[in-house]
Amino acid sequence: MAAYEYETHTYDVVVVGAGGSGLRATLGMAEQGLRTACVTKVFPTRSHTVAAQGGIAASLSNMGPDNWQWHMYDTVKGSDWLGDTDAMEYLAREAPKAVYELEHYGVPFSRTEEGKIYQRPFGGHTTEFGEGPPVQRTCAAADRTGHAILHTLYGQSLKNNAEFYIEYFAIDLIMSEDGQCQGVVCWKLDDGTIHVFNAKMVVLATGGYGRAYFSATSAHTCTGDGGGMAARAGLALQDMEFVQFHPTGIYGSGCLITEGARGEGGYLTNSEGERFMERYAPTYKDLASRDVVSRCITMEIREGRGVGPEKDHMHLHLNHLPPEALAERLPGISESARIFAGVDVTKEPIPILPTVHYNMGGIPTNYWGEVLNPTADNPDAIAPGLMAVGEAGCASVHGANRLGSNSLIDLVVFGRAAAIRAAKVVDPEAENPVLNQASIDKALDRFDTLRNANGSIPTADLRLEMQKTMQADAAVFRTDKSLAEGVGKMQAVAAKMADIKVSDRSLVWNSDLMETLELTNLMPNALATIVGAEARKESRGAHAHEDYPDRDDANWRKHSLARIEGNTVQLDYRPVHLDPLTTQDEGGIDLKKIAPKARIY
Ligand SMILES: Cc1cc2nc3c(=O)[nH]c(=O)nc-3n(C[C@H](O)[C@H](O)[C@H](O)COP(=O)(O)OP(=O)(O)OC[C@H]3O[C@@H](n4cnc5c(N)ncnc54)[C@H](O)[C@@H]3O)c2cc1C
Repeated sequence: MAAYEYETHTYDVVVVGAGGSGLRATLGMAEQGLRTACVTKVFPTRSHTVAAQGGIAASLSNMGPDNWQWHMYDTVKGSDWLGDTDAMEYLAREAPKAVYELEHYGVPFSRTEEGKIYQRPFGGHTTEFGEGPPVQRTCAAADRTGHAILHTLYGQSLKNNAEFYIEYFAIDLIMSEDGQCQGVVCWKLDDGTIHVFNAKMVVLATGGYGRAYFSATSAHTCTGDGGGMAARAGLALQDMEFVQFHPTGIYGSGCLITEGARGEGGYLTNSEGERFMERYAPTYKDLASRDVVSRCITMEIREGRGVGPEKDHMHLHLNHLPPEALAERLPGISESARIFAGVDVTKEPIPILPTVHYNMGGIPTNYWGEVLNPTADNPDAIAPGLMAVGEAGCASVHGANRLGSNSLIDLVVFGRAAAIRAAKVVDPEAENPVLNQASIDKALDRFDTLRNANGSIPTADLRLEMQKTMQADAAVFRTDKSLAEGVGKMQAVAAKMADIKVSDRSLVWNSDLMETLELTNLMPNALATIVGAEARKESRGAHAHEDYPDRDDANWRKHSLARIEGNTVQLDYRPVHLDPLTTQDEGGIDLKKIAPKARIY
C-alpha cells in the first residue's frame, strides 16, 4: 500500500470546481450558513466559464415580449425531445430570478437606453412557441459575460466566508461500503501534500470534457475529472453520445467566435459567396440551432463549396456591420479574430469551422442537483452525499442538443438549486461521516501507481491518439461503420493506459502526473461517448447518424446510461421525465404545446 501522509479537513459541504456552477453553489451553500469549502485545480477566475462570451438566457422581456413558456418550448425543441420536462420547466421558470440575483450581486451587464439589462438574439430562441420571430433573450455583458459572472461570484463567495483551496487537484471520491459519498482525496499541486476532505455533501462542478477531442473551444483544463471520479465510484454517466459542435470555431486554432456574432447580424457564406443557411433554414437562417448549422456547414464542405485552398472551411461575415457596433458589442471576438486568424473583422470575413464545444451528457442528476444512481426498480434513485452541477452534470435540460446561452443559465439556476436542496438535507449540527479508510487507500494507491508508471507511451502521445480517434470517428456525422471502427480503436487506445510512462516522479508542480490523472478521466468519458453513439440507432440533436437519419421516438426517446469498468462500457437506459413540475391548472405549460414534432428552424 502506498504510504502518503495526509491532512484531514472537515466541512458540511465540499464543492469541487470554481467555474460558474461551482461558485454559484459555493456562494449559495455559504449564504445558508453551511460550512463550505471550494476545491479547484485552477484559480477560480481562470475556470473555463471565464471564456463564455455571448450571454445567459432568461425571459426578462426587456427588448420585446417573452415569457418562460416560450423559453421552455425552445429548450424542449432544442433538446430534440430528450431533456427531462420537469428540469426544463425549472430552468426556464427560475432563469429570470437567477439573472436578477446576478445583477444584484454586481454583474456589470450591458444596458439598454432605459438602463435595463441588454438582451441579444441567439440561435433557437424564438417567440410564440417557435411560430414567431427570433426573441432577444440572451442577457449579455458585451462579449465577456462569463468573465463578468465569474469575477462577481468569486467576490461574493469570499464575502460570505466560503473557504477556497486553490490549486488542489481532486483525485477521487471517498465512498462508504454502502455507496454514500463521504468526501474527496486531493493533491496540493504547489507543495505536493495530500489532503482529505470529509464532507456531508460533495458537489462535483468540474466542467466538461471537450479535451477528449483534437479540436475544441474548451480550455485545456476541461478533462471531465468529475465524470472520471464518478465512473470509478461505480456510478453511471448519462447521454454521453451527445457532443455539441459549435458552428464557428476559428479555422486552425478552434478558438470560439460566439453565436452572439450572428445574433448581432453576422452571416455565413460558402465559396460561391452564397448565404447558404437561407436554403437549409428558411425562417431562422443563420440563427437555427447549433447542431443544424454545424451540419449545414459540413454538408457544404462535402459538396465542394468550402472556402480556402483546401476548400475546407467557411466564412463568417461581420464586415457589413457598423464598426462602432462591433467595438461596443463584440470587442473580445474582434480581438480573437485578429490574433488567431489575422483578420480585421471590420474589413474581412473570419474563416471558421465547426469545433467541439459542449458536452450535453454527464453525471445524471435530478433538478436539485442530486446525483442519480438508477437501479432496476428505481430509475431516479439517489446516490447519497453527492451532487453534480454545471457541464459535469446532466439534469437533463439540454437533452440531445444545448441552445446557446442555456449553459450559463443552467450553471446559476442549478448551482442555486443545489444550495437550496443542501440547506434541507445537510444538518450542520450532525456529525460528519466516519471515513472509509479502504476508499482513501484505493485513491492513494491509484495515485502512486500513476506517479511511478514506467511504461513506454508518454501521456501526451496517448492523449493525442485518443483525441484524433474521437475527432475522426465520433464526429458531426456518424455512420455504423465509423462508429464500430471508432469503438474498436478507442478500446485499443484505452488499453494502452496500462503502458503509460510518467517521467517526473516528484510531487511538486508535477504537470506530467497531473496530465496523466486527467487522461485517466478523459478516457472513460471518451469511451462512454463513442460506445453510446454506436448503440444509438437514430438521429437526434447532435447525434447525426447517416444510416438512421430520422429521430425514433418509439424506441430511442430514452437516456442512455454508461457504466465503465476498466475499458469496457456497460450500457443501460432510463426513461425521460415527461411530466412537468406544475399542471396547467397550477400555471404550468400546456403539454400539447411541447409535444414531439419534426425539428425545423
Ligand atoms: C469558449 C466558450 C464560450 C462559451 N460561451 C457561452 C455562452 O456565451 N453562453 C453559455 O451559456 N455558455 C457558453 N459556453 C459554455 C459554458 O461556458 C460552459 O458550459 C460552462 O462555463 C461550464 O461551467 P462549469 O461551472 O460547469 O465548469 P468550468 O467553468 O469548466 O469550471 C470547472 C472547474 O472545475 C475545477 N476542476 C476540474 N477538475 C478538477 C479536479 N480534478 N480537481 C479540482 N478542481 C477541478 C476547475 O478548476 C474549474 O474551477 C461557452 C463555452 C466555451 C468553451
